[in-house]
Amino acid sequence: MLKGKTALVTGSTSGIGLGIAKSLAAQGANIVLNGFGDVEGPLAEIKALGVQVSYHGADMSKPTEIADMVQHAHTTFGSLDILVNNAGIQHVARIENFPVDRWDAILAINLSSAFHATRAALPTMLAKNWGRIINVASVHGLVASAEKSAYVAAKHGVVGLTKVTALENATTGVTCNAICPGWVLTPLVQKQVDAKAAALGVSNEQATKLLLGEKEPSLQFTTPEELGALAVFLCSSAANNVRGVAWNMDGGWTAQ
Ligand code: NAD
Repeated sequence: MLKGKTALVTGSTSGIGLGIAKSLAAQGANIVLNGFGDVEGPLAEIKALGVQVSYHGADMSKPTEIADMVQHAHTTFGSLDILVNNAGIQHVARIENFPVDRWDAILAINLSSAFHATRAALPTMLAKNWGRIINVASVHGLVASAEKSAYVAAKHGVVGLTKVTALENATTGVTCNAICPGWVLTPLVQKQVDAKAAALGVSNEQATKLLLGEKEPSLQFTTPEELGALAVFLCSSAANNVRGVAWNMDGGWTAQ
């Protein structure tokens, strides 16, 4: 379905981003990976799906590196058709104890990076009159939790940016939508499970059950594969008129 298209997924060396990159690659899209940590493993996983893959190590807190990464997609594959703004970090603390540098980093990586990448990617998408911009927001783009001020502010911002991007391009073939997962068991969430286990003196398994039980009625994690399937749908022609939505996949979290 996506043969001949190029997809750039930010923060795709791990977790949800890698899951989405693999789902798009399985549909035939060439992939630009981005993110820190192990790169060879994710590159091999995408290559095994029979598409071309490239890596750019832009730091999502740096606007000039983001612009360079979008340019890299164009020079490597000749186009950039699908942009998935996914990179994100978390820090958990009450506002009065929240380190200012963590606030700045979360706003830059989780929110501003989506603006910078979208700004750089839009002109050629508009010139081709086809494009898909998918912003990985969160249930925290729709509702709040205590001790996540920067994350909740950034993700609400991402949902707002999604709506503006969708509206500005509503008469074109370029759509923009947000995906809002509940809990997904990635390294980002494993850290929160570990912190809960340590704080309460309980096992990892008990901490996981408590974490899910507090917020997610299904008591199940959403998987990167399920989120990848949603991204594939948003890239399909069936989603031509899906514009500016914030689509939750959250086990009922925001239905409460
Ligand atoms: P993860 O920690 O597994 O992956 C994060 C990715 O972002 C990694 O590839 C990492 O290298 C990259 N990254 C971090 N800082 C970066 C930077 N400065 N520049 C470039 N890349 C950077 O986390 P995840 O859970 O897969 O999170 C992915 C996205 O999904 C985030 O935006 C997160 O907020 C969102 N999300 C996660 C959950 C969840 O439960 N895990 C729920 C809702 C939304």
